[in-house]
This record gives sequence, structure tokens and C-alpha cells, in this order.
Amino acid sequence: MNLDLITQPYFENFPGDFSGNAMQRQTPKMVFSTVDIMGFDTPELLIFNEKLSQEIGLGSIENQQDVDFLNASSLPENVKTYSTAYAGHQFGNWAGQLGDGRAIFAGEITNKKGQRTEIQWKGAGATPYSRHADGRAVLRSSVREYLMSESMHHLGIPTTRALSLSLSGEKVLRDMLYDGNAAYEKGAVMTRTAPSFLRFGHFEFLSAQKEIETLQKLVDFSIENDFPEIDKSSSTKYAEFFQKVSDLTADMIVEWYRVGFVHGVMNTDNMSILGLTIDYGPFSFLDEYHLNFTPNTTDLPGRRYAFGNQAKIAQWNLWQLANALFPLIKDETKLEGTLNDFNERFWKKHDEMMAKKFGFDNLLEEDAQFFTDAQEIMQDLTIDYTLFFKQLESFTENTDCKLQFEEVIYTSTSTAQFEKLQLFLQKYQERLDKNTISKIASLELMRKTNPKFILRNYLLFECINELNDGKKDLLNKLLIALENPYEEIFPEFSVKRPSLYDGQTGSSTLSCSS
Ligand code: AMP
Ligand code: MG
Repeated sequence: MNLDLITQPYFENFPGDFSGNAMQRQTPKMVFSTVDIMGFDTPELLIFNEKLSQEIGLGSIENQQDVDFLNASSLPENVKTYSTAYAGHQFGNWAGQLGDGRAIFAGEITNKKGQRTEIQWKGAGATPYSRHADGRAVLRSSVREYLMSESMHHLGIPTTRALSLSLSGEKVLRDMLYDGNAAYEKGAVMTRTAPSFLRFGHFEFLSAQKEIETLQKLVDFSIENDFPEIDKSSSTKYAEFFQKVSDLTADMIVEWYRVGFVHGVMNTDNMSILGLTIDYGPFSFLDEYHLNFTPNTTDLPGRRYAFGNQAKIAQWNLWQLANALFPLIKDETKLEGTLNDFNERFWKKHDEMMAKKFGFDNLLEEDAQFFTDAQEIMQDLTIDYTLFFKQLESFTENTDCKLQFEEVIYTSTSTAQFEKLQLFLQKYQERLDKNTISKIASLELMRKTNPKFILRNYLLFECINELNDGKKDLLNKLLIALENPYEEIFPEFSVKRPSLYDGQTGSSTLSCSS
């Protein structure tokens, strides 16, 4: 691997704490603090994403040093490690300094096309930002993040990527259900990459301390590296920056709705400035469609981060970013305009996306009501979101509605409910007749928009159980399936969640403990 190409531009560009001290503390004014990885004695590399490694310019594994790097056990001299400081709003409240509590940066690499990629480990040890936690990660949550971030990528959704996953060889103590029954679990470390790991919270951190000069430097850095289309000499460049972040965020959320993804912890520290899906914790795909569904047991009383709330929350988070950037933009009307645009852009793109899911090549005025009707039916009948669209693809006027849909419904359904579905399907056929493309082209549109494979939580749960027993069969199968989500490679994955997993913690709901 080209580990010698890894550099740390943050060191020259921003104020940092170079003490190397891992003791947990406040680091006011600092964008980062240097910190060493703890190193592992008996790590074991489980997965290496060779293709991604090539793409970002790191290349293939050639020697033990490369494996040691991925395992976070020892590093070449040029890899000088650090963690960054950020703040954030958690569950709607200002939480002050947070920071990379268990993420440590190796730095960044630029590939032959000139694209920069930041590389970090998650679970390589404590940092100044570990906030009374240990900076370690368990196999359970690392497998979930590795597979899900790759799954999102192959679905075509902006996300951080996973480069490798290793067993750390350590045991890590976790209270998974927060019920006082802590137990040891297998420890793990993963490497992940992104063009930039900057979060809304990085800007909130500096702004809250009135570190306006550094704030400006950080935005300039992001514009320079991530938004080359913004004219650096323009007096409105910071307002344009905010507009871009807002647009990218809206587009990401539309994509989450397309595949039924629920992030679960949309705090401002978990919002990427590039509109990437980041920080995979208690996330889930929808099985049965429900706007109120949240996989996060910590979020259960208020359901702030429920599936149907995600656009509203993204906009709320953008408000916080707008406040943080205000000292640079100083134009309330402009910022409010951008926040209003968010709604408009989101709903326009959302409806265009829904149209494609149903195979409509155009968007008619009547469609907004049609989509609402569809939501109501799916929710009322507890229909599986992904399989609903799969069944629609093969539905014709002569198909028996009950036969076709019964197998993708979770609870028992009354005759009246099936009649309602039948009526809806009739309306659907009539609406399809208003298409200006052929039936075949319409089906093609549906096939490109509706995934056949989603990485359901129960599959992850089974995969993790197998790995804990030292088996990799399901892991290998899932890695193939997630690379081809619009195909049906393994028919056994194209079924609804088995009833055995209904309501089970760890598969249908999860805590933040990781
Ligand atoms: P999250 O809920 O994963 O977004 O994490 C919120 C904050 O807690 C972030 O600052 C994390 O870095 C920190 N954190 C979460 N888990 C750990 C851990 N095991 N060790 C250290 N810090 C952690
Ligand atoms: Mg986080």
C-alpha cells in the first residue's frame, strides 16, 4: 500500500493541540489534537475492501506493515495520528464539546485523479474526546457499520466508506441494553474513508466559542477542497457554501426515503457537511412501512428521529449550522431563504423519486395525493416497504391482490383492508396508463429505483452471531448481495423479516451502545 502518501494537512492549516495527551479534556480553540493509537497485540484482519483501496490511491496489501496499518497495531513514521474536536446538538439540545471519541485519523491521501480521501480508524483507542468512554468498538457495531456503509454506497447513496474490518483481539465491556448487565464482547477496529469527515458540529464548535477566524479558515478549507465550483473571490461564497450543504443534505434525505433508511441518531454531530450518510449506530431499513418507526431505543419516548421525521430534522439541523455560520454570512434573509429552499427542493425531489418508484415517467398534480394514499395503505396493512414495490412490478389487472400481497404483510389483514388495497391498485393501473413511456420502460425505471436487496437488521444480527462463533458464511454472502442490490442473487434474502425477530432487541430495535 502507498502508506507513504498519507499526509496531515490539518497540521499546517489549523490550530491543534500537539501534546499527544489522550486524557479526556476540553480543547477550546483547537480543530484537532494529536493522539496515538493504543495498538493491539493480536489483531486479525477480517475484511479488506481492495477495490476502494485502489480507488483512493492506497493500492493493495503488499506486506505486514500494510496489515498492521489496517489493524491499527503499528504505523509507519509518516502517519501522524490525530482526532478532531466538534460539538453538537443531541436530541435537540446543545451538548457542547463532543469530538472524535473513538475515531483517530491517519490523515489523507490524494489519488491520481487528484481526489482527496481522509482515512480514520474507529475503535483504535481513547482520545481527548472520549468523554468517560473507552474509545474502543465492539465487533457487533463495527460489522454493522462496515456492511451498512458499503450497502448504502452500492445502492447509490452518498456515504462514508468502509476500507477494512479487524478483530482487535481484545474483549470490550458493554452494557448493550443499558440495564446494568454489562458483558464482554469481541472488540474490533475498522478503517473508514470519506472525502471529508467534517460535520455540522465542527463549525458549531468554533462558532460557539466565537473563534471566528478559525471558523472562517475551516470553511475556506472546505470550499477549497470540497466545493471547487464556489468562486473563492466572491463576497457571497459563505452563503453559497451553506446553500450547497443544504442542497446536498436534502438530496441525501430523499435517497434515504427511497430505500427506507432510518438513521436513528440525526444529531448535528452526525451530519456530514458533504451530505454523506455518516456514523452508523442504531440505524435500520424499514421492514413494515411506518412513518413513526425508529430503531433507536434511546429515541423511543419522543421518536424525534423516526423515519417520517428525517427531512424535518435535517432542516432543523441546518438551522443550527446557519446559526454557526452567521458570523461569516451576516445575512438573515439569505439564510432563511436557503432554509425555505430546503423544503421546496426536498419535496420536489421526493415526489420525483416516488414517481420513479411507481414507474411514472412524469409527475402529475394528482400524484402527491396518490403517494399519500400509498403511504396510508402500506402503514395500515403493515406492508413491507421494499417488497411492496417488488410485488407491484409483477402486478397486472388479472393478479389476485390477496395472493400477491399476503406474503409481504406483517399482521393479519381483514377483507375490508384487502378491498382498500385492491381499489388502490386499480387507481395505480389507471395512473400507469397516463405514462408517456412503454410498459417495459416503466418497469425498467422501477427496477433501477427499487432495491431488491436491503441489508435488514435481522440479517446483520444473524451475521454477527455467526461471526461471534467464528463463522463467515453469511458475511461472505451478504458482501455479495449488498454489492448488487438491484438484483436478486439470493432469493432467500428477498423475504420479509421472519416473525421470530419481531420486536427483538438487536435486530428490530437497537440501543446506542457500541
Ligand atoms: P454517537 O452517538 O456515536 O454519534 O456518539 C456521540 C459521541 O460519543 C461522539 O463524540 C462519540 O465519539 C462518542 N462516543 C461514542 N461511543 C464511544 C466510545 N466507545 N468511546 C469513546 N467515545 C465514544
Ligand atoms: Mg457520532
